[in-house]
Amino acid sequence: MALTGLDIYKKLPQTNCGECGVPTCLAFAMKLASGGASLDSCPHVSQEAKDALSEASAPPMREVTIGQGDNALKIGGEQVLFRHEKTFFNPCGFALVIDDSMEAAEVDSRLESLKKMRFERVGYELKTDLAALKCSSGDKSSFAGLVEKVKGSCDLPLVLMSDDPDVMSAALDVCGTGKPLMASATPENCDAMAELAKKHQCPLVVRAGSVEELSGLTDKISKAGVQDLVLDSGSRDLSKTLENLVMMRRSALKKKFRPLGYPTITFPCQETQDEMLEAIHASVYVMKYGGIMVMNNLEPWSALPLFVLRQNIYTDPQRPMQVKEGFYDFASPDESSPVLVTTNFSLTYFIVSSEIESSKRPAHLGIVDSEGLSTLTAWAAGKFTAEKIAAFIKKSGIEDKVKHRKVVIPGYVAQIKGELEEELEGWEVMVGPREASEIPGFLKSWQ
Ligand code: SF4
Repeated sequence: MALTGLDIYKKLPQTNCGECGVPTCLAFAMKLASGGASLDSCPHVSQEAKDALSEASAPPMREVTIGQGDNALKIGGEQVLFRHEKTFFNPCGFALVIDDSMEAAEVDSRLESLKKMRFERVGYELKTDLAALKCSSGDKSSFAGLVEKVKGSCDLPLVLMSDDPDVMSAALDVCGTGKPLMASATPENCDAMAELAKKHQCPLVVRAGSVEELSGLTDKISKAGVQDLVLDSGSRDLSKTLENLVMMRRSALKKKFRPLGYPTITFPCQETQDEMLEAIHASVYVMKYGGIMVMNNLEPWSALPLFVLRQNIYTDPQRPMQVKEGFYDFASPDESSPVLVTTNFSLTYFIVSSEIESSKRPAHLGIVDSEGLSTLTAWAAGKFTAEKIAAFIKKSGIEDKVKHRKVVIPGYVAQIKGELEEELEGWEVMVGPREASEIPGFLKSWQ
């Protein structure tokens, strides 16, 4: 049973020193109870109180890491039901199935797809996150051989899919310290799977026939010493799986029900044979509340929209996507190439930069930090002013790169031309087009 703010307050030092960043111990207790603070923020809390409050201070949903190094995937750790309440922290992952009963050519083609399925959008790389290796043969040496092959040619974290502890053990021996996700512990094999997870320090999928049964099983496995768990509600039907995902997320976050406070895994690959339907099922789970989607088909036509959907859902709604402040070069500009400035809102940057690229004209594009706001909004909010643009140009070093002194500002902020010329002594300020689509024509007329 979760502790209330008052229960927590009684165990705090009650000195109201404010060192936790909150003015009073009572306010801190309330934040802790709602999952908005960590007990570590109070340097004065006693060990006795820490022990007593450990449940209240634990996050409502555990964060689980699969794999190691730069490609490791973190899932879970979420604190809200809806992204507009705060944000979602760890984007869900996509796994592509490779089965040990597949022909060698099919395995090679899927490995190639894992390497190539990468897209760039607004400065971020979108890609498949995991290889899900499935043992259909029931033969542990065949499965271990597949694991070895994939491990040797792909650096993505692995999901190992077998309910047989002997098969799993052989695969884990091949994986070494790669921290793959083991799938799955069930009521029948949970003791052996928990032992393997402890021995190899791997996260473990827990699967049961219903959410109720699942909560009993996670409770049992966590008491056996395995804490990094991933929930599989057992359903292979879209509407039932969605219902289970919502129920599990609500129980974890709203009721602070620890046995369901873990990220989830879903299997669109086992719900339908139809490629389009599989992508549609996955899109539903991206929105609510899939942690990993295991896919049998991830072609560019389905992967790109799914990855973009994930990017949209997991972008912090309070922090627009931004580009780093600085000058960006196009088509090897020289000392006579035009100098343009705009804001650091990602969409603005990518629209303007693609128009400059399409013009095939060399240019220096200056990106001014406007806190992620677009041109007119930034100007209205005082984030893209003559003063800020002048300060940026002076400190950017562009004066050493060009011999002319002409800067082009977006047509939407033509009104700051005079002010900017006063701030930037010796520079001529030119008003560029209002619409990015007119930039190629503007650059072609540049003398
Ligand atoms: Fe109270 Fe601890 Fe915060 Fe100080 S740091 S106000 S003692 S909760």
